[in-house]
Amino acid sequence: MNESYERLKPYMEKAQALQTAMVLFEWDNETLAPRAAAPYTARMIGAISEEYLRVMTDETARKLAQDCGDGAGMTEAEAAALREFREEMKKLERIPAKEYREYAELTARSAGIWAEARKNRDFGAFAPTLRQVLDYQKRFASYQAEPGQKLYDVMLDSYEKGFDMESLDRFFGQLKTELVPFLRQVMDCGRQPDDAFLEGDYPKEKQEAFAGFLARYVGFDFDRGVMAVSAHPFTTNLHNHDVRITNAYTRRVDDAIFSVIHESGHGIYEQGIPDALTLTPAGQGASMGMHESQSRFFENIIGRSRAFWVPLYGRLQETFPEQLKTVSLDAFVRAVNKARPGLIRIQADELTYSLHIMVRYEVEKLLVEQGMDVRELPEIWAEKYREYLGVCPENDGEGVLQDIHWSQGSFGYFPSYALGSAFGAQMYETMKTQMDVEGLLEQGNPAPIREYLREHVHRYGKMKTSRQILKDMTGKEFDAGCYIRYLKEKYGMLYGI
Ligand code: ZN
Repeated sequence: MNESYERLKPYMEKAQALQTAMVLFEWDNETLAPRAAAPYTARMIGAISEEYLRVMTDETARKLAQDCGDGAGMTEAEAAALREFREEMKKLERIPAKEYREYAELTARSAGIWAEARKNRDFGAFAPTLRQVLDYQKRFASYQAEPGQKLYDVMLDSYEKGFDMESLDRFFGQLKTELVPFLRQVMDCGRQPDDAFLEGDYPKEKQEAFAGFLARYVGFDFDRGVMAVSAHPFTTNLHNHDVRITNAYTRRVDDAIFSVIHESGHGIYEQGIPDALTLTPAGQGASMGMHESQSRFFENIIGRSRAFWVPLYGRLQETFPEQLKTVSLDAFVRAVNKARPGLIRIQADELTYSLHIMVRYEVEKLLVEQGMDVRELPEIWAEKYREYLGVCPENDGEGVLQDIHWSQGSFGYFPSYALGSAFGAQMYETMKTQMDVEGLLEQGNPAPIREYLREHVHRYGKMKTSRQILKDMTGKEFDAGCYIRYLKEKYGMLYGI
């Protein structure tokens, strides 16, 4: 036992409780809260976040965290919790309280300004706010930076430890060299599948019931989780016994199907965090990228495979006989994997997805490191979409205004999506050597796959970084080659290339 740690615990517990309260308000805002509640709830969130800052910068807590020393007498889980707590403390104490509050107020407004600008397809209306948010982010990064560290590297590191511009330039460079020409080959081969049947009059209640079935099927535990409806699907969690996913229902039945598998992947990760870690600063997924690796693994690698649908497609046909009666399993699988370069990231297929992320990565680098003004964004955005995807937005709404992230100050977040996909592919390559993944799916038995991920990923929470998890699981460092191989093999087969 570590005496100082025992005395620090109530502070950690309080910080955690305040954070959990904020998460719960966020969830409520997106699901059930009446629209008029927003400004009132924002005031409460403001008060809670101020209290959170007070705990995190408390003198006694800081002293106790120091006195814990190198973690002697602590369990591995406690040591991880202490490390995370110290890091968060260090981050917050470097930001002057006045700036922290001003920034919180700015971002509370900015999402609304962004939403309005997006509705009107008018980037000019958002640009001044975005410039302010970006300036704050750069200033905060400068407070965190180690001597000589680049600002964008600080931002990247906060989402994905151990990944900086050098490693990401290499990663995206490989994707650009390999995938851009491969995508052209796929588009030119003249074998686009018909996917028109995926859109139509799919009753919402039936979609919702099927989504619930799928979540349970892949292993989301409804005794420790719930599913609700929101405009955009997302996952949040209070702790490992209260994990919440949402889904959305449109005229495209595949939207709901693959969103719910994606969010279940996030949810299963959080439900797999052990009791010893939950409700501590180390009691969550290792990183944004590792989280996406799990959600995208379930959604794409498992969920869009033919084997997955062998035992399930009949049930889907029975649920929607009018729409799917005459559509074969193979036609369905080809349709849900259709590659088509588009303008909207969240609608992108598996093959083109990382190219959307590459555009954002390059643009963020220009903004943060090259001093590019936000005014130039729409033009540079269009240029890059033309170059990598061969499409060009007709307005800001389907271009630079499509994502909420920058309005919330999330610069350096986007690369996690592409990294997550690549992490998942590397895991899959190893997993296939240890078990018959396809066979299990064809038998309708995804449990051993989930257990494998629980064993190698979920149970560590933040005790390991994403790089460590990958290395321990696959026996090698992060390798983008696995992802490229996986995509080329899958799409080569689907398109007969
Ligand atoms: Zn996700």
